Amino acid sequence: MDINLNADLHCHSTASDGTLAQDDLAQRAKDNGVALWALTDHDEIAGIDVAQQAARDLGLGFTTGVEISVSFAGVTVHIVGLGFDHRHPDLVAGLAATRGGRAQRARDMAAELAKVGIKDAYEGALQYVGNPDLISRTHFARHIVDVGMARDTHDVFRKYLADNKPGFVPHKWAALRDAVSWITGAGGVAVIAHPARYGLSPTAEYALFSEFKAHGGQAVEVVTGSHSEAEYIKYADTAREFGLMASRGSDFHSPTESRIDLGTLPPLPKGLTPVWSVLRTH
Ligand code: AMP
Ligand code: MN
Ligand code: MN
Ligand code: MN
Repeated sequence: MDINLNADLHCHSTASDGTLAQDDLAQRAKDNGVALWALTDHDEIAGIDVAQQAARDLGLGFTTGVEISVSFAGVTVHIVGLGFDHRHPDLVAGLAATRGGRAQRARDMAAELAKVGIKDAYEGALQYVGNPDLISRTHFARHIVDVGMARDTHDVFRKYLADNKPGFVPHKWAALRDAVSWITGAGGVAVIAHPARYGLSPTAEYALFSEFKAHGGQAVEVVTGSHSEAEYIKYADTAREFGLMASRGSDFHSPTESRIDLGTLPPLPKGLTPVWSVLRTH
């Protein structure tokens, strides 16, 4: 399989916290020269059928995707699933359970934000939600920018929504073992998303990769919109060390918020096995 293929295997639609509909994302991927595309909404697969049909109509390579929220060693880690049967009952039920806690979490976040002077944030965030089952911190961030309490969404996270900030509410997401097994049980490949984002110590990171691999995980995002060039090299080494395949994805959310557009990242470093060498695609 061509390591230089323009694969973009990580992005978000209005079914989670992206601002574009699935067919607009497919068109944008096609226009940007993407050859293999996956939509990876947070804890949600409701956008897949529309995305797949749009990709088919455009002659754009497509594989199914999702990004599952996981609690591991006191932090939130994201596990991307690729190339699975999106009707598999264990996967469908596991994702529904993972989404389930979001509504109460959002109300709790609003209560915390009210204490620092941001009133009615729940109602405000709902204005930005495209899928009532999937309210996320990003929707709060857009509302808080809109009411003038921050410059942009990154500024909102820095001031209010990142871990230990006033609007952050700790949450118990899926277990690593469960997320990996929902994906692999449905015939897919599990991928550690943007590992540099978690701020893990070397020991904790070693534990994450070891346990992920022991549970049947097979790949890691090496080239992502969240990594620096030095981190591409670092996680290329980690992929080799753990015998993992490598993935590539922009994590595109919005034309106005995302630094990296669909299909515009550099290729994977040489000598890695691309995850698309084993993916089921149409
Ligand atoms: P949630 O799943 O509700 O915890 O929201 C997580 C989402 O918030 C991520 O997928 C990103 O889209 C967004 N996010 C997290 N940190 C930041 C940040 N520093 N700046 C902008 N967006 C962020
Ligand atoms: Mn997101
Ligand atoms: Mn993520
Ligand atoms: Mn993402």
